[in-house]
Amino acid sequence: MRAVVVEQPHVVNVTEIPDPVAGPDEVVVQVAACGICGTDVHVIEGDFPPTKYPLVIGHEFGGTIVEVGKNVTGLKVGQRVGSDPTLNCGACYFCQRGMGNLCENWNAIGVTASGGFAEYCALPARTIYPLPEGMSDAAAGLVEPVACVVRGFHRLQPLVGETYLIYGAGPMGLQNAQVARYNGASLVAIVDINESRLQRAKEVFGFEHVATSVEQLREIAPRGFDNVIEATGVTKVAEMAINAVKRRGKLLLFGVCPPGEKASYDAFKIYNEEITIMGTMALLNSYGPAIDILAAGAVDAEAMVTHHFTLDRFDEALEVVRKGQGLKVQVGGRGA
Ligand SMILES: [Zn+2]
Ligand SMILES: [Zn+2]
Repeated sequence: MRAVVVEQPHVVNVTEIPDPVAGPDEVVVQVAACGICGTDVHVIEGDFPPTKYPLVIGHEFGGTIVEVGKNVTGLKVGQRVGSDPTLNCGACYFCQRGMGNLCENWNAIGVTASGGFAEYCALPARTIYPLPEGMSDAAAGLVEPVACVVRGFHRLQPLVGETYLIYGAGPMGLQNAQVARYNGASLVAIVDINESRLQRAKEVFGFEHVATSVEQLREIAPRGFDNVIEATGVTKVAEMAINAVKRRGKLLLFGVCPPGEKASYDAFKIYNEEITIMGTMALLNSYGPAIDILAAGAVDAEAMVTHHFTLDRFDEALEVVRKGQGLKVQVGGRGA
């Protein structure tokens, strides 16, 4: 089969490798579409420490089962499915306490184990989720990133009627914004320094309150926002985002800031205004809910996926991502 293999940092080959065979507890899925994520770029550049090379990357995908291992029950050939990429050990201190995303022996499909930028992928049956009838390939490939957003909301526990400010109008920012709107927000504002991204947020996704700086939003939210979601992964933004948080509000660090960089906060302000700062890491028990809200239309999958390419054109797909053109770029299956 064809597959995108990262041989070592900065060396990516689309090449022929043996077809996977289902182990006793696995299924083989024919990949329909697999999204490129910031993490894929980190793996390619060699700055994702858990990765061992060579590796077939890709963790945002759905497809159709073509083979079922002998111990697997409840799944069948021809079924359309998605896969939660988390490969937590199930036995460590954190797994035993229901925190599989924080597993001490954490692994993930497409990041430390063979992934979805390939024609076929063998996957542990326990990671497999059936997809509802009629869910598009584009939506199937979005389940994983939306599951990360759902995880963030499980952390945030916002209330109906609250206000949101999202930093970043990229794919993750817009998915957070759409889930916020779906979740009963009274106001969702978006800040980004890229005007064309803001324009798309407004025209394609219907977010009226977009701005290049939070100061421009003072009028609509003079006391700040109940929930501020940092989705740029820029440490400076994570630092200044605190100034947009309303009293007793929350700041959710969703974006992946470079390890080791420091953000500083006025400790008195956190105390005096009862502010909560929290992180959210990947996904946890959120893949199923992500399927359900995508099926219900919470996120406009067709508008989110602006590009798709065949596997053989992975290089071009990666270029689009690196240049920040479009939103979600998917590879495989129906790609052109
Ligand atoms: Zn991802
Ligand atoms: Zn564990």
